[in-house]
Amino acid sequence: MDVPDSEELARCVEQIDRGRLAKTLCELIEHPSVNPFGEAPDGEEEGEKRVSAYLRDRLGRLGWTCDIDEYTPGRYNALARLPGTSAGRSLMFAGHMDTVETTGYPQALTGLVRDGKVHGRGACDMKAALACYLEVAEILAAQSISLSGDLLIAGVGDEEYRQEGAKALGATGPRADAVIIGEPTELTLCLATKGLAAYDLQVTGQATHGSVPQYGTNAILAAVRLLGGFDDYQRALDRRRHPLLGPATVNVGVIDGGTKPNIVPSECRVQFSRRLLPGESPSGARAELVAALEPGTWSIGDAWWTVDAYELPEGHWLAETLRIAAKLSDVPDCDPHGFPASSDAAYFGSPVALFGPGSLAQAHSLDEWVSIEDMATATAVYLRTAFLTSG
Ligand SMILES: [Zn+2]
Repeated sequence: MDVPDSEELARCVEQIDRGRLAKTLCELIEHPSVNPFGEAPDGEEEGEKRVSAYLRDRLGRLGWTCDIDEYTPGRYNALARLPGTSAGRSLMFAGHMDTVETTGYPQALTGLVRDGKVHGRGACDMKAALACYLEVAEILAAQSISLSGDLLIAGVGDEEYRQEGAKALGATGPRADAVIIGEPTELTLCLATKGLAAYDLQVTGQATHGSVPQYGTNAILAAVRLLGGFDDYQRALDRRRHPLLGPATVNVGVIDGGTKPNIVPSECRVQFSRRLLPGESPSGARAELVAALEPGTWSIGDAWWTVDAYELPEGHWLAETLRIAAKLSDVPDCDPHGFPASSDAAYFGSPVALFGPGSLAQAHSLDEWVSIEDMATATAVYLRTAFLTSG
């Protein structure tokens, strides 16, 4: 049953400050945190050090305890807690601090406010949600609110590559009874996320003089014929739909082969990825594809980059709590959905739902933006979820 806001909660929602939200997000954008993709963070733009210190300073001033965990050299999680007054359920607002690169993006690291939007690298993916979490903390402090359960804010590292921050957090804690990740879901409730597995396909031919191709085996042409089989494989995947996520997909991302136009190439290498549904494994997906393709002189190696899929257990209270919070906040679509991209969700060791401002259409683009009004709505949903969770 939907419950109206308590007087205390209604007062908190009224305090949401759009100007402060925009300013916080601009400051987060101006603390660069580009993911170094497996390398050691180098220079002023890479790594999560600056954003984790920013979160610690802001939350520390509001009376939260905040630990910085250097889970691997140069890479950080920021873990903040507002202790509950009794044994209410605990809730974690989690968000990755890292962004993708800034190459080719003019003024990527300047937070620009224009026409009700904030622009800049990370604006929607996903510093907007971090700004919303800070807004929740500001309001709770200003209103001297004590929740009965612990409220946690976790800024994590490395979501854009190997999710090492979330994995470290899942391994060592702190844990919460439920986690919300504010990835850009366009203010929809996402209760499942796809996983990812990336593979190399190696096609071997036989080199010969380009004038007599009949004496050799062209590895590029063999690869092209083989890749035609990927379309049939996709059609088979399309018939197996997850209720929230739809079908798994396969994408050929890189092809590389041959050396000269007058040589029949002996090698062709392909990199492809397969989006995984909950319950699928990288090795199982590989075996399925191998069985579906025409036999030949090719091989597919084990997945060299993987992200696990995730789904919230059916009927979990977090889904209903978030739905009520969204409905009370006038979110237009309160039905459950799936998040098509991969995320940290599988690694927290706690039940997770995704809900956040911004759209994947702008994430990773050369003009990332988020609507300030959507940030205000997300903040209202987060506030209501915190109150409803804590009971
Ligand atoms: Zn993201």
